[in-house]
Amino acid sequence: MLQLTEIFYSIQGEGAYTGTPAVFVRLAGCNLACDFCDTDYALAFFAGVDEIVLRVAEIGGDCPMVVLTGGEPLAQAETAALIGALRAAGRRVHVESNGTIAAELPDDVWLCVSPKERVDAAMARRANEVKVIVDGCVPTRWLDLFSDKPTILLQPEGNKPRNVALAVEFAKAHPQHFRLSLQTHKFIGIR
Ligand code: SF4
Repeated sequence: MLQLTEIFYSIQGEGAYTGTPAVFVRLAGCNLACDFCDTDYALAFFAGVDEIVLRVAEIGGDCPMVVLTGGEPLAQAETAALIGALRAAGRRVHVESNGTIAAELPDDVWLCVSPKERVDAAMARRANEVKVIVDGCVPTRWLDLFSDKPTILLQPEGNKPRNVALAVEFAKAHPQHFRLSLQTHKFIGIR
């Protein structure tokens, strides 16, 4: 059984797939405790892999994209089985991770790593998308680790004006390598 917080159908509001319809499966629990965390990842219910796949179909119909998020979705042992079952059901699986837990992921799984206090080197290499949170400063300590990526997304924490300004200025100063990522779902009042 997996521990979950919620399953809902919405629009991906941030990152490379902004604007794309997706079913979100939020797994409960996280192995970190970031000061700025604004995510409720408390345990709300348990569900088996088959139940989750069914629920995704019930609320998302034939939506191709399913986002496993958290908390930290790779912290649960059965996440690999869930990924396999969703792929077998024809979904394109995206994983949003803090990158601390090494995991083998199929090639067609889109991995978004948002580094916090540490990152596993293999997960840094595997990342398809890197989303760095700007919270009072651009955390440049991550930049070497992700220097092989064509683009790093700078996401202002809480859409706060000061953080937005820092991210915009940094992206403008390094236009080859950085892009602004805003939490657009918060502007329009959706999850
Ligand atoms: S890694 Fe993400 S979900 Fe976990 S505590 Fe930090 S911000 Fe919250």
